[in-house]
Amino acid sequence: MRPDIPALLHDIFGFPGFRGVQDQVVGRIMEGQATLAIMPTGAGKSLCYQLPSVALEGCCVVISPLIALMHDQLRAAQAVGIRAASLTSVDTDWRETQDRLRGGDLDLLYVAPERATGEGFRSLLRSANVALFAIDEAHCVSEWGHDFRPDYRLLRPLLDEFPQVPRLALTATADAHTREDILVQLGIPREGMIIAGFDRPNIRYAVHPRDGLPRQLADLVAANPGPGIVYAPTRAATEKLAESLSRAGRPVSIYHAGLDPRVRAANQAAFIASEDMVMIATIAFGMGIDKPDVRFVAHAGLPKSIEGYYQESGRAGRDGEPAQAHLYWGAEDFARARQRIAELDPARQQGERARIAALGALVETGTCRRAILLRHFGEDPPATCGNCDNCLAPPASLDATQTARKFLSA
Ligand code: ADP
Ligand code: MG
Repeated sequence: MRPDIPALLHDIFGFPGFRGVQDQVVGRIMEGQATLAIMPTGAGKSLCYQLPSVALEGCCVVISPLIALMHDQLRAAQAVGIRAASLTSVDTDWRETQDRLRGGDLDLLYVAPERATGEGFRSLLRSANVALFAIDEAHCVSEWGHDFRPDYRLLRPLLDEFPQVPRLALTATADAHTREDILVQLGIPREGMIIAGFDRPNIRYAVHPRDGLPRQLADLVAANPGPGIVYAPTRAATEKLAESLSRAGRPVSIYHAGLDPRVRAANQAAFIASEDMVMIATIAFGMGIDKPDVRFVAHAGLPKSIEGYYQESGRAGRDGEPAQAHLYWGAEDFARARQRIAELDPARQQGERARIAALGALVETGTCRRAILLRHFGEDPPATCGNCDNCLAPPASLDATQTARKFLSA
């Protein structure tokens, strides 16, 4: 009997229907077809394998790069009654999990790529019934991606050992090169690529040359009473900005990898509960956090890539209400990026240069910012969006500082 997908969607997850491309993705998986799903953060990628994991006979193996993310997802899956487990260095119930896997008593199993590619795990899978391989954060397989993980390269032999098991690669962030790489590296045919719309029409984008940043941020915060996130380039910068912003009379908190984990967790919890706090953080903050009412995201310096910018600014306005994304940049950001790239392995320099050039185009354009973002993700937007700084107030002259062009020709 074919499983009743809409009934499972409703009964297990409590959703009235699919969102966006979820139905296409789930449909392909149920037909056993290899798929690459490119869906922005918050679009609901997890459902694309969690639902089949319940609908299909056998266990869905999820390859995920971060233990913290795995455990968040694991708890969420267990909370809706999915039989889920993980095999990581911090799990203590390995034997039980292995027995459940062999006994057909698991819907979902989370593992890290380095574990998944080991011989021990492969032989475990031979004694189990695997229904699906889901490769989360699949851009990690590509050196073009912004987060290359060599272990992802070793996944192909594992996938190929189980040719009858469909494979689903998922990512929020893949430019054309990275997409191509994912298809090739994971053995997915081109027609298996499904791209969700990336537009976030409720986010207003604006870009500003940095000019007295503390005052610029104080003005921004004064004009926006709701919760906000300020991304700063370094730990030291978060502390300095927090000090200057707290004088503006708003509750502020900080988050970076150098803080004690308990302090970090407490700061994050305070922000999530607050209706007016400004979180000043490095990009260590935000992954896996679902706060729908963030009203603005500001970048105090150039982000690492368009993908990073899209993802970080995309934490604003998840509730669909109006929200803002402000990017403050200076010529020295490009100089610093150039220094950083010069120290990289030559094989990686080309990709990094392309990333910085794309950011240069975003900050220096006199035309629609949203169009630049969307074209980067392969969409074909109208020339004006009506909801970015350039569309709302077209610049009088296109007298850009040409920083990016100088950067490129250097
Ligand atoms: P992603 O991994 O793409 O960033 P998640 O899988 O974490 O996104 O899902 C983001 C949010 O969307 C979650 O809160 C999830 O419960 C919700 N969600 C997913 N699918 C649906 C749906 N069909 N209808 C309503 N909400 C959904
Ligand atoms: Mg996800």
